Amino acid sequence: MASHTILVTGAAGFLGSHLCDALLAEGHTVLGVDNLSTGNTANIDHLSAEPRFRFLEQDITRAFDPGRVDYVFNFASPASPVDYTRLGIETLLVGSAGTINTLDLARKYNAGYLHASTSECYGDPEVHPQVETYWGNVNPIGPRSVYDEAKRFSEAAVMAYHRYHGLNTRLVRIFNTYGPRLQASDGRVISNFMIQALREEPLTIYGDGSQTRSFCYVSDLIDGILRLSRSNEHLPVNIGNPDEWTILECAREVLAVTGSRSEIVLMPLPPDDPARRRPDITRARTLLGWEPKIALREGLERSLEYFRSSVAFA
Ligand code: UDP
Repeated sequence: MASHTILVTGAAGFLGSHLCDALLAEGHTVLGVDNLSTGNTANIDHLSAEPRFRFLEQDITRAFDPGRVDYVFNFASPASPVDYTRLGIETLLVGSAGTINTLDLARKYNAGYLHASTSECYGDPEVHPQVETYWGNVNPIGPRSVYDEAKRFSEAAVMAYHRYHGLNTRLVRIFNTYGPRLQASDGRVISNFMIQALREEPLTIYGDGSQTRSFCYVSDLIDGILRLSRSNEHLPVNIGNPDEWTILECAREVLAVTGSRSEIVLMPLPPDDPARRRPDITRARTLLGWEPKIALREGLERSLEYFRSSVAFA
């Protein structure tokens, strides 16, 4: 495959850093951009001696031009409910001005463009499992709206640059993903439960634990995203694992994998917390020949060492 110069925004984040690794492994040159608001240089430290990788500390809400690029992967945004609630205005800005700036950059260099969108576009879904043609049930003024509406605006912007400027765009709707480098402190369910279990502290279930999520291991997700980037599909494609778990079942899996004797405690459910979420991946299967390979138990086992070291260094 031809070697390209690729811009990855959010490069110091969980998904962005795994994406950089995968693109470098394919022989590309990667320019990683991040303003480190939620990203962590520890995720890309191992690339410091890699001559095909360069890191630029840059806030993409300000226009920037790093020189010619062949492809842009736009992965910059606070992504966990705890982070985007804390950084609400920043989240709105990166998903609006930041997206427009990176689209302008792609347009200038006639580069391909893939935007990291989200299952949050479906809000608290009335259609289950979620198909890409479903428009969603999103509260535009609730606490999650800073993230959900920024991501929905980004989808509109990406489609507009495709329609009005002929930009070669892709939209991936990412469902809950986990694995090494998932920030230990970002408050997400897998990171919270793994850390709590390893510390023998109670696992905090919000609500009664009957709400569902469908968890995708990070290497499966990156494989799907790379396949999408090489496809000709401009409409959104769900990438996620359709294996659906209640949060209570998820807690039990974490206890089994860690061998922990932690108790489970029930805590209040945050407002607008989606009751269920599961991707319909028919489009990804048909268009990309993609489906996830790693089941939750195996993915948690693969993540165990990372979370152990996070606990050790906390
Ligand atoms: N959750 C939980 N305990 C935690 C963290 C999260 O029960 O310590 C629940 C949360 O209320 C939600 C689900 O787990 O129903 C997934 O939450 P997460 O923050 O990982 O991501 P979301 O899918 O809500 O964006």
